[in-house]
Amino acid sequence: MSQIVTDTELRHQVVQALEGRGAEFDVDAIVAALIENFGRVDVDSTPPVAFWAIARSQRKLPAVRCFEFCVYGDGHAREHLEEDQWCTTPLRKIHASCYPPPQQRGDDREVFEISGQAWHHGRAPVIEMAMSGRPGYRMTADEARRMAHALLSTADELEGRGA
Ligand SMILES: [Zn+2]
Repeated sequence: MSQIVTDTELRHQVVQALEGRGAEFDVDAIVAALIENFGRVDVDSTPPVAFWAIARSQRKLPAVRCFEFCVYGDGHAREHLEEDQWCTTPLRKIHASCYPPPQQRGDDREVFEISGQAWHHGRAPVIEMAMSGRPGYRMTADEARRMAHALLSTADELEGRGA
């Protein structure tokens, strides 16, 4: 049977339910989510599956050491999932005048978006070229340089600039 409890009592119950792992979680956020979802009732009235789903969504991750290039540089400790702890460079945008083709586009224009990214969960930095927010091509720095050279050479050929 549910029992109405104070915020302080509920907070204490949450700390106990976390079995000594309270420091890994945002306890206040768990309390707020429990109240929002179930009302101000004792933790025993909350289904364990629901309690742990809420708890996991409020897990605090240890700060990571950001890559030098990261525009955030804050260690991403507020993320709840390790795969969300990723660093990024500023986004560079290039208007794509050929996409969609002129006869189809109306006022819509696509944009090439280039950024460097790295996940802290075991992935090396890559450069991504996306289009209008849709994931696109990922390449290493060396591949990006080779692509840049190929683009420059092709642009020069197109405009008749001799090598
Ligand atoms: Zn970062």
